[in-house]
Amino acid sequence: MGLKVVKFGGSSVADGIQLAKMKAIVEADPARRYVVVSAPGKRFSGDSKITDLLFLCKSQKDRNVDYEQLFQVIADRYSGIMHSLDIEADLDGELALIKERLEAGWSEDYIVSRGEYLSAFLVAAYLGYDFIDTKGLILFDSRGRLLAEETNEALKAELAKHEHAVIPGFYGSQIGTEEVKLLSRGGSDVTGSLVARAVGADIYENWTDVSGLLMADPRIIPNPAPIESISYMELRELSYMGASVLHEDAVFPVRESDIPINIRNTNRPDDPGTFITAEKDASSCRVISGIAGKKDFTVIAIYKNMMNKEMGFVRKALMILEENQINFDHMPTGIDSLSIVIESSELDGKLEDVLEAFERQLSPDDIEVFTDVALIAAVGIGMKGTPGSSARVLKAVADAGINLRMINQSTSEISVIIGVEAAFFEKAMQVIYKEFV
Ligand code: ASP
Repeated sequence: MGLKVVKFGGSSVADGIQLAKMKAIVEADPARRYVVVSAPGKRFSGDSKITDLLFLCKSQKDRNVDYEQLFQVIADRYSGIMHSLDIEADLDGELALIKERLEAGWSEDYIVSRGEYLSAFLVAAYLGYDFIDTKGLILFDSRGRLLAEETNEALKAELAKHEHAVIPGFYGSQIGTEEVKLLSRGGSDVTGSLVARAVGADIYENWTDVSGLLMADPRIIPNPAPIESISYMELRELSYMGASVLHEDAVFPVRESDIPINIRNTNRPDDPGTFITAEKDASSCRVISGIAGKKDFTVIAIYKNMMNKEMGFVRKALMILEENQINFDHMPTGIDSLSIVIESSELDGKLEDVLEAFERQLSPDDIEVFTDVALIAAVGIGMKGTPGSSARVLKAVADAGINLRMINQSTSEISVIIGVEAAFFEKAMQVIYKEFV
């Protein structure tokens, strides 16, 4: 029998109905021994996530605004869950302690972490599993950075003592202190991944409200095909381009130990979902695994005759960006031209200064600025070694009469990124999808 770590996101633990589905899933497979949970999320559109309510509650307290009512809303969500499932637990005692600490000015990280804490506390009682607090197990340094190795050792030692356990997501503590620290938003995915690594799981199941990843955004492509399997590398490229199903940092811990992630749907437990694995056999898959894109980029194109012979040209350009604290995303070059692709928000209030510095320090023949550029990435291991796949992307876009502002093929050959005017974003996605699927 293998060993599975299962993580249930906010919508999967939002209320008693969802939790009953969660229990059936856990109990359907004895390998599912370690369960990581988020705080209750939205039950319907327009509903609030507990995490958001806790942030608000703490901020009202700090601004001396009455927070009693809000705290009661939070307390009611948990007692509703407890009563609907006949769970026996001292929820009142826990809530009273949290309120007392809120009153006493405990940190925002501590208050917000109670969303996951209470969720795991109730789920543990519901499943009859041990509850393990991640304070002292998921460890951060004094600057809030996760200490991966220390965390792995601490988790490994603690989890070995428990046959079955429920673990709250999203937080840990500063090493050597009692200070609770949060991961970034959506961080329960990371907790699940850390736990999977620590116990040497055969698989990390991440249960959410979609049946895995889709090949494209369904708001742009109607009924896109599901992705059955994808490599970590492809996922990284797609998530960087805005496809979101898993926290970015959740990949690293399991990738190191070669543990596959399986994204599953709590509402459709029979769907196989998407498998995310280290390597995919390039010959047995589609050329393109997925398409994703993002708007709001600016391209600064610098032209200078004989640029390729001028030593230090690129370094000077990058220094100017660094001095202005600007992060860039891509930098395709030609013999006499250099394009720098930057998220437009990075340039807020800085564009004029940067252009002036380019003029002064680089003495270019010309500089052009294209605002409102959208980037689209066609990602797939199948492109590697398949001659003509980038050409197909470019031809599909050209045939649709869409002008390209930029083209970039990653050195790993698993993605082609194109830049188009934002107005053509959707159209370009559609024609690329049609070309390959
Ligand atoms: N509850 C946290 C959030 O809403 C963490 C998580 O769900 O992963 O961001």
